[in-house]
Amino acid sequence: MCRHLAYLGTPIKLSELLFDPPNALVRQSWAPRDMRGGGTINADGFGVAWGTTRFRSAMPMWSDTALPRLAATTVSGVVLAAVRSATEGMPVVETACAPFQEGNWLFSHNGVVRGWPGSIAGLASRLPTTDLMTLDAPTDSAVLWALVRDRLRAGVSLAAAATEVVAQVEAAAPESRLNLLLTDGSQIVATTVGHSLSFGRRAGSVLVSSEPLDDEPGWEPVPDRHLLVATPSEVTRTPLGRA
Ligand code: GLN
Repeated sequence: MCRHLAYLGTPIKLSELLFDPPNALVRQSWAPRDMRGGGTINADGFGVAWGTTRFRSAMPMWSDTALPRLAATTVSGVVLAAVRSATEGMPVVETACAPFQEGNWLFSHNGVVRGWPGSIAGLASRLPTTDLMTLDAPTDSAVLWALVRDRLRAGVSLAAAATEVVAQVEAAAPESRLNLLLTDGSQIVATTVGHSLSFGRRAGSVLVSSEPLDDEPGWEPVPDRHLLVATPSEVTRTPLGRA
């Protein structure tokens, strides 16, 4: 059910996240290790954003012939990338692939909103009409992004926006899986509700990822139902309230 990662810190080549490590994101697209809640591979597209530049495609990451060269020659200190396994009934299109973006804000969702679209129609209807008319795609993840973005635009912090949206969506759509991943270029915020997540820190950088990229020591799993706030110098994990 989708795999995603976010990196912040000393600039690195995109290939060091997407292709080089033994369990790089491209490997997670065809052989993920820890898929929960259905789905076997993540072949319904991918996206990668570095800084404010974004590249998305509806094709499997492993099949893109331009990406390896691009990744080997692009260096960035802010990266968010995802591979997608479309939830049944949702379209396989480029615009349904994370990262969703506005300016410096980058967002990804790994999971599913149960009973979509009816279950969260009430929440969505509180958004400005123009936001609903300009959703990236008719998917649960695009609606979640619109809900998060609405709060960010109002000046709410990344952590508060993610926590509030998880709480509201869980109330409206119980049993949803809501691993959100968000960055503004200065911190990474992530939630674990139903799916795996780990983080690793090296001098000057932090990497948050659905799965560890290698078997080296230093990866820490994030327990379910937690909020993670990470910068290269500090990582905090806070339990989320019960749904
Ligand atoms: N439900 C979302 C989609 O279809 C995310 C899917 C996932 O996490 N596999 O795009």
